[in-house]
Amino acid sequence: MALFPQQFIDDLRLQANIAQVIQEYVPLKRAGSTLKGLCPFHGEKTPSFHVNPDKGFFHCFGCGVGGDVFKFLELHEKIPFPDAVRLLAQKYGMALPEMSDSDAGDARRDSALREALLKVHEVAAAYFREQLSGAAGLRARQQLKARDVSPGTAEALGLGYAPQSRDALKTHLIAQGFSESLLLQSGLILRRDSGEVIDRFRHRLIVPICRDTGPVVAFGGRQMDPDQGGPKYLNSPETPIYSKGRTLYGLNVTKSQIRQTGFAVLVEGYFDFAQVLQSQAAPAVASCGTALTPAQAQLLHRFTSKVVLSFDPDAAGQGAAARSCEMLVAEGFDVNVVVLDKGADPDTFIRQHGSEAYRERLRNSRPYLEYLLDRAATGRDFGRDDTRRQFLEEMLTVAARIPDATARDQFADRLAHKARVAEDVIRAEIRKAAVQKRTTITARELPSFGPLKQAEKALIWGLIHNAGDATEALAELDEVDLDGLAGRDILEAARSLLGTRPDLLPSALLQRLSTGNAQLVTSIAASATASAPAADCVRALKRLRWERERADIQREIDRLQQLGASQHGNEIDDLWQRKKELMHRIEELT
Ligand SMILES: [Zn+2]
Repeated sequence: MALFPQQFIDDLRLQANIAQVIQEYVPLKRAGSTLKGLCPFHGEKTPSFHVNPDKGFFHCFGCGVGGDVFKFLELHEKIPFPDAVRLLAQKYGMALPEMSDSDAGDARRDSALREALLKVHEVAAAYFREQLSGAAGLRARQQLKARDVSPGTAEALGLGYAPQSRDALKTHLIAQGFSESLLLQSGLILRRDSGEVIDRFRHRLIVPICRDTGPVVAFGGRQMDPDQGGPKYLNSPETPIYSKGRTLYGLNVTKSQIRQTGFAVLVEGYFDFAQVLQSQAAPAVASCGTALTPAQAQLLHRFTSKVVLSFDPDAAGQGAAARSCEMLVAEGFDVNVVVLDKGADPDTFIRQHGSEAYRERLRNSRPYLEYLLDRAATGRDFGRDDTRRQFLEEMLTVAARIPDATARDQFADRLAHKARVAEDVIRAEIRKAAVQKRTTITARELPSFGPLKQAEKALIWGLIHNAGDATEALAELDEVDLDGLAGRDILEAARSLLGTRPDLLPSALLQRLSTGNAQLVTSIAASATASAPAADCVRALKRLRWERERADIQREIDRLQQLGASQHGNEIDDLWQRKKELMHRIEELT
């Protein structure tokens, strides 16, 4: 997205009529305020593919695909977003950003800054490497050895060491002619509250983080001593050249092998990556501890659509790994899961059992959806009708999120087998849900998300059909109001667009969402009526947040009372007071 100025994309979208664009691929007929035709993304005989030219989106009630004009081209032509922009610009005869003078000036300044930042990182990476190989790096080298990281692997990854000094790197870089202000922008040095300017990384093992094309754009630093202060891992901040959510660690090293083997192993940490690389078991990338973002998934999609993910069996079904799986499935990846031994990650597993054992585990990895099915079925008594019904309901919501029709049918068949129900019954259930009430079933999302609240749905509907009111209402919400909501990512994206012209908002929002969330939005927007005004929805969401807080406080009160009301009397009184205030607020709202 950073490739083109947003203004250009918005202008292009105003020029390009979505109905006209889609009509080149699909014959459409007018049906009320929308147009409809046979869906190009799934086989059908009666049209369930709708295009809404006023709001600038398409949606299929049959298979659930949806999005804006760019998404249509991305999906239909199987091209990434920038190519969709280029294609559309070409169609409409719009010159690609030959920017205006002031824009061009800004762009030149921006690109000069980015160039300089890349250069600083290159020099800093060389400095850290030199430190690792010199006298100061002895302990760091010993630590690598203790972690079974060979010198060859350390070199392949460009590992380094930041010496135990306040400003050794700063001094080195200034001597190389870089300005202090540039170094501050790079995040390699930082200004303390006292005004003192020091190195960000001190006495740490340094892992350079690179773009997939090679240049170093950031660093991760691991503590040498547990009591040296600061976090165990310290990372570069976001800078003009580095966005954590758009970078996959190690992709620069493994990308060609990923293309060759046809899949990537997704691991969590730097040392997991190092160990898998060293074992030569398979090409890996690392998410670095957080759940994968849609931008990271799309980056990976350029190289493969198959991912194998290691699960810690204790953490299975929760946490970053599970969220990554769900997102990858929704983005159309084939996801397999490796369950290692209790508490083991790829780093410890390979060091203990060797690379052949790890390879064996990879060979025995199982499709994520199958794994999910087994886990959900474990311990359930399918002799009971209500158990079976509950299990089916849970799993049907999973099925509804699978974008590919064939994969969805396979899942349906396995589900039928598990729950001992006829296959055609399950397939019919899924189809019925998909055709009639797509929103209710996608809206329920995957198990760990919980259902999309009525108020969220109505607010999302409003963002497309009544953007002015909806954004005004949305501005009333705080970030915490959105915590734990199934629609959080969608509403956050909409919040980041406050101030956008209401008529441009629907498409601008769709453009920023993951494929799965864009589909969710179009499926809600494609339904005919709003269920509540945006202001009411916002009040309902506020109320839900306060009720969550009230419940949390009550739990804390219960906990303290069990520990002994007499010792914790003051704390309990405070909590009661807070609870009373919350209840008062909730009452005022209704
Ligand atoms: Zn379709």
